[in-house]
Amino acid sequence: MRPFDYQRAEGMDHAGQLVAAENATAIAGGTNLLDLMKLQVETPQTLVDVNRVGHAEIEDRDNGGLWIGALATNTDTAVHPRVRADYPVLARAILAGATQQLRNRATTGGNLCQRTRCYYFTNIDQPCNKRDPGSGCGAIDGIARLHAVLGTSDQCIATYPGDMAVALSALDATVHIASADGKARTVPVRDFHRLPGDTPWKDNVLEPGELITGVSLPAPVEGTQIYRKVRERSSYAFALCSIAAIVEMDGDTITRADLAFGGLAHKPWYDPEVSEVLVGQKPDAALFDTAADVLLRDARGYGENDFKIPLARRTLAAALAEATGAEL
Ligand SMILES: Cc1cc2nc3c(=O)[nH]c(=O)nc-3n(C[C@H](O)[C@H](O)[C@H](O)COP(=O)(O)OP(=O)(O)OC[C@H]3O[C@@H](n4cnc5c(N)ncnc54)[C@H](O)[C@@H]3O)c2cc1C
Ligand code: SF4
Repeated sequence: MRPFDYQRAEGMDHAGQLVAAENATAIAGGTNLLDLMKLQVETPQTLVDVNRVGHAEIEDRDNGGLWIGALATNTDTAVHPRVRADYPVLARAILAGATQQLRNRATTGGNLCQRTRCYYFTNIDQPCNKRDPGSGCGAIDGIARLHAVLGTSDQCIATYPGDMAVALSALDATVHIASADGKARTVPVRDFHRLPGDTPWKDNVLEPGELITGVSLPAPVEGTQIYRKVRERSSYAFALCSIAAIVEMDGDTITRADLAFGGLAHKPWYDPEVSEVLVGQKPDAALFDTAADVLLRDARGYGENDFKIPLARRTLAAALAEATGAEL
């Protein structure tokens, strides 16, 4: 690890000013950032500790929704009574990630901003356009088992590794952002993470000096909430494919299908056309197959990760069967 300065921010405005300095980076739980610093993938000159800026609260909102502060830990969020009662897909997604010890440290803001687990990104001896723009992409013709099959570019095929953001995407949450000049803005979580395009080093829409202050959830909706995560072992592993599903039925007809997918793209994947083919229909295996055709219409494998395409099809069908009670 290289030497760095450490500054403790006393409030969000102060944090924004400190983070706006050249080569300064916020640190919250540190569970992702410190690993990357030890590997010299991240080499900030100044670490801005945001743990004392407040924003650790989880509170009811006047519209019936819920506010989750940027510094709320993943554990506090997953066990919060309102999250468990009204947004169980979020609790399940968080509990499917990492370990209890990590979740005790990991925060809302840090979880949303965690970086890809691409092996070439974390090995500074390998080419990687995300870590070192213009150096190439080792994964495209290399070891690509964990990599994306949707929304890739010829610059980068990395996946976003998180679980929480997949559930937040299905729930249509909003990310609240503060900037160094004291201004605030909001971004739907579905638009927060970016596809790689020709700027793969930009993981999300945060500008320099901007920090997440929290996430707001809309008022809860009716229906069954499921988080299904397929991984190489039953715990302590990132998703090969995951789905957050909120499905409501009226009799034997699907009236709501809010679906988001993890492990398939550079961002949690939300495609409104998948919902459109499901809503108003009676659930059966043929309908689930049609929904998978829509989801995967532009999917592309890179050899080692070809399996993710049929895996996504089966994961979608299994989640929808569980939510609707249909036979597969
Ligand atoms: C072994 C292991 C297994 C894991 N398994 C999973 C898993 O299965 N699923 C999963 O989802 N995650 C998993 N994780 C990742 C873990 O969830 C993240 O490391 C954690 O959520 C990051 O939160 P943090 O507060 O520690 O972030 P930090 O490490 O402090 O920061 C991460 C990034 O977020 C930025 N950041 C922090 N706070 C803010 C803010 N308020 N505004 C803007 N930027 C901010 C930092 O600058 C940094 O770039 C795993 C981690 C490890 C080490
Ligand atoms: S997939 Fe993206 S993160 Fe991985 S080596 Fe290629 S450019 Fe880097």
